[in-house]
Formats: sequence, structure tokens, C-alpha cells
Amino acid sequence: MSQFFEPKLIKALKDQPTPFYYYDLDVLDQTLQAIKKAVGDSPYHIHYAIKANANPEILKKIKSYGFGIDCVSGEEVAAALKHGFRVEQIAFAGVGKRDDEIELGINAGIFTFNVESLEELQVIQEIAEKLDSEVNVALRFNPNVNAKTHEYITTGLEENKFGINEWELDELFELMPKLKRLNIRGLHFHIGSQITDLSVYKNLCNRVNDFQQKFRERGYQLDHINVGGGLGVNYDDPDAELIPDFERFFNIFKEFVHLYPRQRLHFELGRAIVAQCSALISKVLYVKKGVKKNFAILDAGMTELIRPALYQSYHKIQNLSRLDDDTDHAYDVVGPICESSDCFGKSVKLPESKRGDIFAIRSTGAYGEVMRSNYNLRKDAKTIYKHEIL
Ligand SMILES: *Cc1c(COP(=O)(O)O)cnc(C)c1O
Repeated sequence: MSQFFEPKLIKALKDQPTPFYYYDLDVLDQTLQAIKKAVGDSPYHIHYAIKANANPEILKKIKSYGFGIDCVSGEEVAAALKHGFRVEQIAFAGVGKRDDEIELGINAGIFTFNVESLEELQVIQEIAEKLDSEVNVALRFNPNVNAKTHEYITTGLEENKFGINEWELDELFELMPKLKRLNIRGLHFHIGSQITDLSVYKNLCNRVNDFQQKFRERGYQLDHINVGGGLGVNYDDPDAELIPDFERFFNIFKEFVHLYPRQRLHFELGRAIVAQCSALISKVLYVKKGVKKNFAILDAGMTELIRPALYQSYHKIQNLSRLDDDTDHAYDVVGPICESSDCFGKSVKLPESKRGDIFAIRSTGAYGEVMRSNYNLRKDAKTIYKHEIL
């Protein structure tokens, strides 16, 4: 049995044309409530990383909890504004902001640009002068902390492209007085994604305190510190942990980050908020016997969900048509796309499966639908919310 899929729901799902993204907004609600509870009365502010999932219903729910938005493109800034997020709750990060994206952020009057290089600081200064504006910025530093996650989603090591490096600090302190149009409001860090070893965050806190100390010694008062996102979720066994352990996560920051009076700590959670509220639902088109193994060929592929092909990520796969049967067969679960990397899982333990069975690929709420493509000229998969079919 699965608490995510009750029998009545499975029956309703079977009537829908596949493949589609299924969303359970009750799970999202419970997740958001858990965050609120874990934050308590700490001076913490959550910016949802909209790049994880930008579905209107998801955004509406997140907005209702008073969260802000973390953007990594001008298009995301525009989307956040369109969906009614307040402009003073929008942060804009990214190593490669175009001039027109910077102009859009300045004209809108967003809360802050998270600036990733000295050159970007100078460009924002020039554009602010041209627009005769003042701009709030936070400086994104690369703290050289190992996030102990997949190399493609690690961002906080010196070898990564993100943020200003510690060895650039002297040059930065020389430059800062010349940036007349910029108000340096905070420091920003984001060290990677799908972080499950929480000791990593303790290391980050120590680095945050070091950096903050250096700024205070130079007389800079900062109104916020932004520690980014990256909290991982349980992909192996989603039903055992539909809601991530936010209590443990926030307690690390409560214990180890040194905040000064009136300072606020900002978080940019993406995956941990939305991953578990969705599953990709697909139908078995063919079961093919190979030489050494069998293939279950689905009507969903890497066009719908690219994470397994892109960074070998694991998603739990269930045969919803035979949930109660023994999982005593092994299949390579693959899609129909003309690429050998179009594979959701190798030697997956499943019940003996047949053409027409309905499969669920779990934990697809983050970096699922937003990363889909139309390769092979395939159509966008539909989006179906629980409340529409139950
Ligand atoms: C992607 C990203 C996040 C969110 O990361 P998650 O792992 O989804 O929590 C936060 N901040 C920045 C700057 C990002 O690029």
C-alpha cells in the first residue's frame, strides 16, 4: 500500500490519457505548514526557488503562505510578478544575467540582486546609473563547502562557476565604495542541491560567520544573510518521508549562524517544498524480452522527465495496476525516445507487468515538468491535480 495512492485515486488516474503529471496539493499544504512550524518565531524568510516548479496552482498555494520568490532569470522575475508575488519579496540570482534582465529587475524594484562576480557588480552599477536608480544587492560568495551531492548539482566549490571567491575579497572591498548606485544589503550562499548529509549545513554556517565577520570589520552593516536552498528529499522511499525533516534543517541554522540584532536569515528552498507532491503517471506500451533482461517500455520518456538521463537520479517506480503483488520481477524501465539514456531505472524490482499497466514515477514535483522538452516533436504532457479527478 502507499499513502500517496489510495485505491479510489488509482481508479480515477486510470481513466486519464497518459502520460501526465499528477499533483497532490494537500501534500504541498502539509509541507508548507511543516516549514512554518519549524521556523517558529525566528527572523527567517523563505523565498521559494521558482525554477523547481512554476505551475500556477503550486505558486498560488506557496504565495498564500507569504513566501517570497527566488529567481534565476528575468523570465522568472516576470512570472513571479504575474502570479502576484510582491516585488519586495523577489530575489534574483544567476551567474549570467543579461543587461535586459537586469533592467527588468531594476525597473520592477525587486528586493535584491544576488550578484555573482565583480564584473556583474560594475555592470549593474552602470545600468543603474543609466536608469537613474538605486539597487539593492546581496553578494553571492562561493564558500568552498562540499555539498556531498551529485557533481552536476554542486555549486559551492571553488571549481564551480557560481559566486565570488574568497580570494577576491580585497579587490571587492576596493571596488565597493565606487559603486555609488548599489546598496550592499546582504551576503548570499547556495552550495548545491539534494543535500542529505546535514552536517554540510553546519560547515556552511561556519563559513557564513567568517564572511560576515570580514564585512563587519570593514564597517558594513548587513540586513540579511541568505543561505540558499538545497535541502534534499527521500527519493528512495517517498512514502516514508513525504514531508522533509524541516525541524532538523532549521535547527542547524538556529544553533550555528550568528545573527546580529534586526538581521534576517533568508532561505531559498525549491526541491524540498515541491518534490514529493507529484508523480509522473505513464502507461506500459510494450514489455520486451531482452537477452539478459526485460524492458518495460513506457509512453513517458526523458522528454517528460529528464533527471534520470541528465544526472542518473533515482526515482521510485511503482506499478499502480498491481500495487499489492510481489515485486519479484526485474525490468529496465525505459521511454520511447531515440536515445539509450532514455531510461528511468535499470533492473527495477516490480510485479510481473503487462501492456496497459499504469506506472507511477514518484517525487517528480521538483525539476520535473519545468525541464521537459519537445524532443521528437512530442507534445507537452498534461497536468492533473488531485482535486480535479477525485
Ligand atoms: C536552484 C537554486 C535554489 C534551490 O535549490 P533546491 O535544491 O531546489 O532547494 C536556491 N538558490 C539558488 C541560487 C538556486 O540556483
